[in-house]
Amino acid sequence: MIVRDSEFFISEIFRSIQGEGNYAGINSLFIRFQFCQLTCNWCDSKYTWYEKSGSFKLYSKKELIDLIENNPCKHIIFTGGEPSLYRLDLLYNKNKKFHVETNGNIIPILPLDITLADGTHINRQAMNEKIIEQFNWVVSPKLKNAYQEIDETSLCFWASRSYAIFKFIIRDIEDLDEIEYWQKKCSIAIDKIYVGIEGISLHSQLRPEIVDAIIAKGYHFSPRLHIMLWGNKRGK
Ligand code: SF4
Repeated sequence: MIVRDSEFFISEIFRSIQGEGNYAGINSLFIRFQFCQLTCNWCDSKYTWYEKSGSFKLYSKKELIDLIENNPCKHIIFTGGEPSLYRLDLLYNKNKKFHVETNGNIIPILPLDITLADGTHINRQAMNEKIIEQFNWVVSPKLKNAYQEIDETSLCFWASRSYAIFKFIIRDIEDLDEIEYWQKKCSIAIDKIYVGIEGISLHSQLRPEIVDAIIAKGYHFSPRLHIMLWGNKRGK
């Protein structure tokens, strides 16, 4: 299968609150894109990984633009999977506020030509930075606890962009050292770093000793409100 510009494979569309990051609590429309180039071991949306791993629907550019235009939500959250596999700049609407949840291993202003693990081929042109700099990019680099490798060039690109903030997910206090390593390596501004706790239950999120350590490092704590309210329920 080949994914081209102007084609958008969508896993699901739903309304909820933004659970995490610098807009936590905001009433939003979520558009979840199919496919991801990573395979994080604790991924809660593995159904987006492969062509055969879940149901999804093909939208044309016009169909998706119309859907966004006609939805009452002001905040539109592109999530996944990995949304930056697609030409998100083509979906811009000046009356909406767009947010992108990305793993940060892709530079959107460069063309992309990759083949995913299931043979799906992504071939997209560079996004227009004048447009995507108006999006709130929530860059969530996956640490060793997800058994993934951070791409240094990509992370340093994001660190240089005013329109990106960073959301790291940790399992233990020791993971904060890895965040600090990357923060220094790419000169990420400390006040752009949000740290959340991995887990899919309310209990997993209530770890004050971890939040104390996050505070001591000078980072923001990111709640994961959807997990606290609904657990790992799809469409929330
Ligand atoms: S980057 Fe996100 S969608 Fe992709 S495998 Fe990791 S957690 Fe899942």
